[in-house]
Amino acid sequence: MTNETKTQTMFGNDNNPSNIIPMKYTLDSKIQFQCHPGVSCFTACCGNIDIILTPFDILRLRKELNISSDEFLLRFTTPMWVDKTDLPGVKLNLDEDGRCPFVTKKGCTIYEHRPSACRYYPIGMANFHQADDEGAEAEKFFFVVKEEHCKGHDEPKTWTIRDWRADQGVDLCDEMNVQWMQLVMRRKSYGFQASMSPEGQKMFFMVSTNLEKFKNFVFESSFLDTYEIDPQELEEIKNDDINLMFFGFKYLASALFGAKTLQVKKEKIDARVEKMKNSQGDREADAEETYKQLIADRDALMVQNEDYKK
Ligand code: SF4
Ligand code: SF4
Repeated sequence: MTNETKTQTMFGNDNNPSNIIPMKYTLDSKIQFQCHPGVSCFTACCGNIDIILTPFDILRLRKELNISSDEFLLRFTTPMWVDKTDLPGVKLNLDEDGRCPFVTKKGCTIYEHRPSACRYYPIGMANFHQADDEGAEAEKFFFVVKEEHCKGHDEPKTWTIRDWRADQGVDLCDEMNVQWMQLVMRRKSYGFQASMSPEGQKMFFMVSTNLEKFKNFVFESSFLDTYEIDPQELEEIKNDDINLMFFGFKYLASALFGAKTLQVKKEKIDARVEKMKNSQGDREADAEETYKQLIADRDALMVQNEDYKK
C-alpha cells in the first residue's frame, strides 16, 4: 500500500485510471471479489485515503454515535472541496498514522453505518452522455477498480454486480445520495468560469454537513415568510431528518441553480418587483438631473463665448 493519500469517491472516477479494468459492466455482469477478515490485506484500504462524506453519511453516523452535527464535524471531519469543485464539504479525519478513526485490527467498528465511499469500493458507477445526444437519458454502467494491494480480487467468490451491491447496501446509498451528487455534477459542468458566491457556498455547506443548523434556518429565520411550502411537507421535514435532507437538496437546486423546485411567495416577488421599479425610478431621476446639468453647463459656456467675441 502506498503512503500517498487517495480519494475514495462516489463520483465515477479514480485517482489513477490505470487501476480501472477497461471494461463496461452492467448490473448482471459477474465479478470475482470478496473482502473479509481472512484476506491478507484486511483493512489496508482504511488509511491514507480521503473519504468524502455525503449528507446521508453524516446523518447516519452521527445518529449511530448519538452526537450532534456540530460535535461530529468537530471530532471526525476536515473541510475539503467536493470532487474538484468550489463546493465545500467534509472528509473523514485520519489519525496521526493516516488511518481511519473507526478502524481496528478486527475491522471497521461502524461497519453497519460506514460511509457510502467505503461501500462502493471497488465498483464504480458512471453515467455516460453522447456528445451529440443532449437531453437523452445517460447510459449507466459500472467499472471495477483493481489495485495491486487489494487481494479481494484473488478470492474465489463470484457474484453479479447487482448481488454485490445489495450485499454492500449500496442501493440505499444511491437513493439517499443521488440528488446531492447531481448538484455536485451540475456545479462541475459549469467549470470555474462562473464562481459561486460565498453565501451560496455557505448554504451548500450547511445543508451538506449540518441538518440541525439547516432546520433552525428553515424554522427560525424569515425562510417561511419567503417560500411557499405545503403545510404537510412542513410537518414532514419538521419530524423526519431524511425528509429534511431531501428538502435541503430541493432548496439548494432552487437557490444555487435556479431550479423551480421551490416557490417564492407572491407577496415577496411583488415586493422585489416594486423595489426594482423604485430603484429604476431613482436611476431615471438621476439621469434627468445629470442631463439638466449638462444643458446648464453648455448654456453657460455659450454665454462666455459670446462675451469673449465682444
Ligand atoms: S469507515 Fe470503516 S470501512 Fe471506511 S475506512 Fe473507516 S474503518 Fe474502513
Ligand atoms: S480486500 Fe481490498 S477492500 Fe478488502 S480490505 Fe483488502 S484492500 Fe480493502
